[in-house]
Amino acid sequence: MPSRTVVERIEYEGEGDPAGRSAIRGGGGVRAWRIEEHGGLEVLELVRIPEPEAGPGEVRVRIEALALNHLDLWVRRGVRGHRFPLPLIPVSDGTGRVVEVGAGVRGVQVGDPVLIWPGVSCGRCRPCQSGKDMFCREYAILGEARDGLGAEDVVLPASNLALRPKGMDPHIAAAFPLTYQTAWSMIVERARVAPGERVLIRAAGSGVGVAALQIARLLGARVAATAGSPGKCAKALEEGAEHAWNHEEEDIAAKVREWTAGEGVEVVVDHCGRETFGESLRCLGRGGRFVTCGATSGPEAEIHLGHVFYKSLSILGATMGSKGSLHRIASLVADGALKPRLGKVLVGLETLPEGHRLLEERAVFGKVVIDLGEGSSSPEGD
Ligand SMILES: [Zn+2]
Repeated sequence: MPSRTVVERIEYEGEGDPAGRSAIRGGGGVRAWRIEEHGGLEVLELVRIPEPEAGPGEVRVRIEALALNHLDLWVRRGVRGHRFPLPLIPVSDGTGRVVEVGAGVRGVQVGDPVLIWPGVSCGRCRPCQSGKDMFCREYAILGEARDGLGAEDVVLPASNLALRPKGMDPHIAAAFPLTYQTAWSMIVERARVAPGERVLIRAAGSGVGVAALQIARLLGARVAATAGSPGKCAKALEEGAEHAWNHEEEDIAAKVREWTAGEGVEVVVDHCGRETFGESLRCLGRGGRFVTCGATSGPEAEIHLGHVFYKSLSILGATMGSKGSLHRIASLVADGALKPRLGKVLVGLETLPEGHRLLEERAVFGKVVIDLGEGSSSPEGD
């Protein structure tokens, strides 16, 4: 049965009607992607699961759009020494509309469009109550440590939803939470980038790279970027980088010395890992800050501690960020001050493997988005 047709027939104006809903859906459950074992694209399985029901404190959301992250590739392939809770519904980023409100949930109604925050935490512990929910011991990223958004309908804690600002394109709403939250942590909270500082952003064509570039520019920093192709370099310049160097061809440390008259930059943002770490440290000036949120080429790197103390360097890490930062980011996205870049919009839940392929081939500058709705908006956000 073409479940897409089923989805299109369902309307949620006003009150929900569980009996009516299940009648329309033929009691057939919902489609969801599932990973039972790690591997190539073939381990992505499109299955039918029972309709999820919103329990107390929960909300059921019909997904309108999903966005992919590099994290989705790690979850699918597996990471040595890390155990994911398989089987798992993948995908960390998305947006949708409320179709069921569980007991005790206020402030959200059936039909409301919502933003979805990708980190789930307990809400009771000291970090959670200090606004540092990403440090909660129970912190779990959707689609990584618990079931994610890669389904027609999902059930989420109400505390992971915020009303989607009026007029916000669902593709944009899906595209920003995970990457902008992480970039915000790095630029605003960890590196504390200030106006006029010089920031080198490596792999600026990645989702988090674009976000970091935009946030650094918003703060009034001067930015140089590196990327792996002339096309990506051109895009980085469009985003406001003063320079964009192809790291396949250029000696980045030499370029930085030239740019900064030999001083080095104040901040390097680098999530590439082993391959670039040493060079990135050499790009820093005295008192410089290195900040990272990942290690795509491998996590183990050599460090010359002499450089660290002699140049008074700081090495900073960041993973995800607080829900509070997401509220700020969402308002900046709604105002157009931050503009998530959509690299490719695919249509239909079934296109997830194609999205993985595009991400894997690094073929796209900006986010890969999957539209589950009925062409809710134009593909390009700008
Ligand atoms: Zn907690």
